[in-house]
Amino acid sequence: MKTRIFTYIECSCGHRGALIETIGANAFRTGARHAWVRGLTHAGVYDGADSLFAELKPGCPTCSQSLGPADVVGRSELQGIDEVMRLAHEPRLPEPALAADV
Ligand SMILES: [Zn+2]
Repeated sequence: MKTRIFTYIECSCGHRGALIETIGANAFRTGARHAWVRGLTHAGVYDGADSLFAELKPGCPTCSQSLGPADVVGRSELQGIDEVMRLAHEPRLPEPALAADV
């Protein structure tokens, strides 16, 4: 079973994006974890205790502000979605999911 975790972020300027992690069933044995950003840059400067933010260093493409855990507005998990092999063709993030979490 694969787990995909969406961490939704809203910048103080109103721009929204997400951090996405895909964790495989054998993650503990293989260390298989993929994480990437959607709608954000890697221009942030976060270097704190949150390993996801420290790895991705998300930044806002609109105002160039560095984003951190304090900017998280929601989280959701999907399990058993067999999309691990299609990372290069991510479907667009459905906006209604964002609104429902707020
Ligand atoms: Zn911004």
